[in-house]
Amino acid sequence: MRPPKVSRILATLAAAALTALGAVTVDSAPASAAIRNVCYNTSQAGPFAGYANQAATIWNNATNNINMAQCGSNLMIYYTYGGGSYAVRNSLGNGYVVIDYYQAQQYSPLRIMTHEIGHILGLADNYNGNCAILMSGGSAGTSCTNPYPSAGEAATVDSYFRSALRSATTAQVFTDSWPAPATAGALR
Ligand SMILES: [Zn+2]
Repeated sequence: MRPPKVSRILATLAAAALTALGAVTVDSAPASAAIRNVCYNTSQAGPFAGYANQAATIWNNATNNINMAQCGSNLMIYYTYGGGSYAVRNSLGNGYVVIDYYQAQQYSPLRIMTHEIGHILGLADNYNGNCAILMSGGSAGTSCTNPYPSAGEAATVDSYFRSALRSATTAQVFTDSWPAPATAGALR
């Protein structure tokens, strides 16, 4: 049985109204709604506090969905003497980074810092020797001082924070390979 014509017209109008409401809702949502704070703490970072701030600025400029600021202790920055730099990610945007003072004498400390923070932001290592890739880490050699994530790496971080992708939010320890510290003993 066909529905009365008036009902069909009303249904069409209702659907149109809902669509319009939906569009208004989407349009009125500010773009900043997706931005998530990553609160880092440099109180234990010693001589590397300034590098942490620089790295935060680099990540903030490279991404759209995160805002790194000293607003808490979700991400602690530590340093140590020997044993290698590493990152411990408890979940996306949460964990801690340890910078090896000796490694930072051989490799760019800012590149190490930005790389290790990259792990906290969801990225894995990509030891392909390409200096343009931040997550290539020490594989690019001691002469590589590039502290900037590639456009692809930045986009990947944005996608993780947009979707909270499971693989990026799992707890993981990244014991980094910055291979040069064969001579670390000599620096002590
Ligand atoms: Zn790494």
